[in-house]
Amino acid sequence: MMKPKSLLLQNARDLESIDLLSGASYVGQGELGLEHFPRIQAEIDTSSSLLPSTLVWECHTWYEEVLGGTPKHFLHLRLTLEIPLTCQACLKPYAQVIESDRDYLFFQTEEEAETWDFEADHESEDALVATEAFNLLELIEDEVLLALPLAPRHPAHGCLAEDLKTASARLKGQVEDIVIEKPNPFAILKNLKKQ
Ligand SMILES: [Zn+2]
Repeated sequence: MMKPKSLLLQNARDLESIDLLSGASYVGQGELGLEHFPRIQAEIDTSSSLLPSTLVWECHTWYEEVLGGTPKHFLHLRLTLEIPLTCQACLKPYAQVIESDRDYLFFQTEEEAETWDFEADHESEDALVATEAFNLLELIEDEVLLALPLAPRHPAHGCLAEDLKTASARLKGQVEDIVIEKPNPFAILKNLKKQ
């Protein structure tokens, strides 16, 4: 097989429509503003001065030869982003880091992809359908939404609700300490006698 040429992906427009049937492989990296991702924007807590970072992405596609068969077609996609979410414990915004690092395997048809998804014992790959106008922006947005925490919470020791819980536990502890440290009346008597 002829070694396929490698094409560079750089901006949102490149990512919007990638010809995955051309036989070329792709490589790229960059940063994107969230104006490209309305569904991610809808998740953001806008009640404070915390601002989302840009979305940092890198990807490449490649082919792997299969003995007596058509080569396998892969995509690797890595994403990092920080966005303000609402903490479900104290209802205040906090900065959540979102990360995703995955491999995907391309198929020619929806049926093939679904069959593989259903049958294969795969741990680290997902099935996608290769098209001549593949929208990688959409996949990036899907991956970020999948990587969102189910129950957004401040990290430990940063949460007002948790701080209150700790503070009230400490107060309770102090009350108990006071009880324990109440002087023994017999000791007082003994001290009085000494004087
Ligand atoms: Zn919180």
